Amino acid sequence: MAYKQRILSGMRASNPRLHLGNYEGALRNWVKLQDDFKLYCMVADYHALTTMGDIPDNIGAYSREVAKDYISAGIDPRQSSVFIQSHVPEHAELHLIFSMVTGVGKLERVPTYKEKKEDLAEGRAVSYGLLGYPVLQSADILLYRPHGVPVGKDQAPHLELSREIARSFNSAFDCDVFPEFKDIIDEDDLRSKVPGLDADDNGVLRKMSKSYDNCIYLTDTEDEVARKVKGAFTTPSKIKKSDPGIPEGCAVCQYLKLYSADWKTLWDEDVQGERGCMQNKSVLIDVLNEFLRPFRERRASLDDSTIESMLKQGAEEARQCASETLSLAKKAMRLT
Ligand code: AMP
Repeated sequence: MAYKQRILSGMRASNPRLHLGNYEGALRNWVKLQDDFKLYCMVADYHALTTMGDIPDNIGAYSREVAKDYISAGIDPRQSSVFIQSHVPEHAELHLIFSMVTGVGKLERVPTYKEKKEDLAEGRAVSYGLLGYPVLQSADILLYRPHGVPVGKDQAPHLELSREIARSFNSAFDCDVFPEFKDIIDEDDLRSKVPGLDADDNGVLRKMSKSYDNCIYLTDTEDEVARKVKGAFTTPSKIKKSDPGIPEGCAVCQYLKLYSADWKTLWDEDVQGERGCMQNKSVLIDVLNEFLRPFRERRASLDDSTIESMLKQGAEEARQCASETLSLAKKAMRLT
């Protein structure tokens, strides 16, 4: 098999179902890249524990479901290594090593740490895991000494700290164990921030997110998709078909842009008052269900034992690379 450069990506297992935002903002790109790169595709179960606020009751089952979503979305376990973070203990070990070369002040200044800290319920203590989240993330990435990390545009700043940690390690131990990796950025604005089915109190579309309960999940049935689309937010001032629509602020039109080849015509007709919102919704239900059909078919063929053996094999493959990196790091530290 021809040599492929390595890339690494993953999502937290904080809930068992991935939505269209997760697909468009991340997974779609991974699927595309796996033909040209050796993809290490991680389900980040430890990361799902870092806020401590809403610890999933069955994180093992959640992780398996996320892995099934990866494969349903087109990740091919024959060419990519799909694995669960905690099944590759090198992640925890490199995290510990990196914690020795990372300043606390640097971690305290990470914007997502500040936000998450404020989001914690009153009286709940900040865990070390929350502060150290980017250190674990750096270990996740750098264990694979990757050529690059596919990432949504808004996520790119998070990776800078991983590069700094790599440089700190290399400089502290006078080595080049961790080479620079690239951000492989998907520049598409709509894909990197897919709106949810609803709008905020000011009538502005907001990001699709489990916490807003405004998602279309990759596992939704045809009927669920139809029901959700029928209730989706459209231009509030478009009461009759002849009223002009504002597609930029309409969730249904945004999804049409993503999933219908005819979206430009549909948008024009919406603006000209030649199409009603119900007509748009009906087109969207059909194209979305057509789009999700292969996802549903792949998922139907995955039972728990199939996914278990895929994950076992994925962890073994990941460990081959991860243990080699860890040996190099320990050698540089004169631990061995
Ligand atoms: P999260 O579920 O927040 O852990 O996100 C996992 C991945 O999905 C990250 O790469 C996010 O950038 C991406 N993602 C989450 N929600 C959206 C969304 N509404 N639009 C685009 N990407 C998203």
